Amino acid sequence: MLDKKEGKGFCIEDVIEEFDALTKDAGRVQRETLERILAENGEAAYLRDLGLGGRTDPESFKACVPLVTHKDLQEHVQRIVDGDSSPVLTGKPITSMSLSSGTTQGKPKLVPFNEELVQSTMQIYRTSFAFRNRAYPIGNGKALQFIYSSKQSRTKGGLVATTATTNVYRSQQFKRTMRDMQSQCTSPDEVIFGPDFHQSLYCHLLCGLLRSDEVQFVSSTFAHSVVHAFRAFELLWEDLCADIRDGVLSDRITVPSVRAAVSRLLRPDPALADALRGRCAGLSSWYGVIPALWPNAKYVYGIMTGSMEPYLKKLRHYAGHLPLMSADYGSSEGWVGANVQPELPPESATFAVLPNIGYFEFVPLREEEPDQDLERSAPTVRYEKSEPVGLTEVKVGEEYEVVITTFAGLYRYRLGDVVKVAGFHNSTPKLHFVRRRSLLLSVNIDKNTERDLQLAVEEAANKHLAAEKLEVVDFSSRVDASSDPGRYVVFWELSGDAEGEVLRSCCDSLDRAFADPGYAGQRKVGAIGPLELRVVRRGTFQKILEHYLGLGAAVSQFKTPRCVADSNSKVLQILCTNVTYSFFSTAYD
Ligand code: AMP
Repeated sequence: MLDKKEGKGFCIEDVIEEFDALTKDAGRVQRETLERILAENGEAAYLRDLGLGGRTDPESFKACVPLVTHKDLQEHVQRIVDGDSSPVLTGKPITSMSLSSGTTQGKPKLVPFNEELVQSTMQIYRTSFAFRNRAYPIGNGKALQFIYSSKQSRTKGGLVATTATTNVYRSQQFKRTMRDMQSQCTSPDEVIFGPDFHQSLYCHLLCGLLRSDEVQFVSSTFAHSVVHAFRAFELLWEDLCADIRDGVLSDRITVPSVRAAVSRLLRPDPALADALRGRCAGLSSWYGVIPALWPNAKYVYGIMTGSMEPYLKKLRHYAGHLPLMSADYGSSEGWVGANVQPELPPESATFAVLPNIGYFEFVPLREEEPDQDLERSAPTVRYEKSEPVGLTEVKVGEEYEVVITTFAGLYRYRLGDVVKVAGFHNSTPKLHFVRRRSLLLSVNIDKNTERDLQLAVEEAANKHLAAEKLEVVDFSSRVDASSDPGRYVVFWELSGDAEGEVLRSCCDSLDRAFADPGYAGQRKVGAIGPLELRVVRRGTFQKILEHYLGLGAAVSQFKTPRCVADSNSKVLQILCTNVTYSFFSTAYD
């Protein structure tokens, strides 16, 4: 950063001061934010039909407007998508839609996008950058960012439809903010917006290597993309070095715009090529490849919480001694909080809610009583029904589902995420991301979440694969209800070949590791069948990623589906046609 903590466009201390001021009286800021949202959108048919009558106070808002899920808004969203330019959900017409990654349900869903969302994205980026930069200052330089846009299409009504990250990357504000934060991407725009993900990935690596000494940090939106990039680097490094030595771009890059933009940066540089080669040759199993190739990098940055946790082990391996810093928490629907304690390891990362970017409510979650939320095709964990509480009323240690009201036309919208309150920053809560609310695996009374599956996979892999120097590259699961009794099926892609005995032990260990007492009890009495472990070919999860890209998803927002519903037939087909071995658990025999 420039001297005295000044960025070109803003001062780090000013940003922190602004955040402190906002969070000191978060309750008041929340009331004012709701007032602004409702005043700007009072003309929206949705609010008028609910009888809000122009009122902007929280009490009237809660009395008139129900909690909703995406499904409840489908009709309104469709009207916008079809080109209805009257005020449907917002006062000003919506001109762009975002495609959420939709990996849970199998297909992306459309949500409104507008300029206010760009603004709040920048506010979140600036806030967490200010705290990060105070703890780990970066110098003048660049960032190697594995970011990718997705396809952009037009809806029937002529609106731009693309992923939220693409909507942000194409905004001028994004570029300005990145420049202000000394975080400009090493790759030209043509690479970020290239139509072929493999070519963009190759060029991101190449452009990063060309600026080997300038790179200040390595990042992606979700950590999966960094791990993915370095798995690819293990296979591509010699070609990349050859391009740098000869100053000629590999003929695998065929997209003319990408080829032209990257070729402009290349000139023969045998000295750099030799240095990079030497650094690669000096590594053992690619441990610490990031600091070896980018010696001035200060950290690795990206969302590492929630469904990204399974990639942390590999990420730490590639990052060597560099700290991992978990990025902020939000969704295509709207942002929630910024990581203002960058020094915490990703497993303990929290997100301080910015009280002026939306109006936040929290549904207290206590297991037991049935809940009538039927939005998701996957069942949800059953909870006691309780009234949502406001931002400043949440309690430390309690779990809640997040409900957001945004400037982009979502009112009391259940995000489907479960968070735990870890503490407060002034009067705004710091949230720890726990998991998606939907239940992953359930045959009858058993209930296992994404987190339970992750822990079971980690336990089995640590017990039986680590000694074999093997790792689980990626994993997914499903419930096979066609067998009687139904059973869990877990799919694993491994980094190499494993002995049958080892896999058999893994399968038993997985079966035993599901912590839910309902599961163990039902397994013992035979009401749930033996868990099946299916090992799939190398590259299977890459095929799944490509399938989602074909549907318009972006690599930048990709999350591997951890449980595949029967309705998600294409992904099931990819998994099932790539099975090489299958084992049935004998853990409860
Ligand atoms: P999408 O709208 O497709 O980008 O997905 C948004 C979802 O990603 C959120 O609802 C969360 O489930 C998940 N997510 C986003 N940020 C984080 C984070 N920092 N930690 C964990 N999960 C996150």
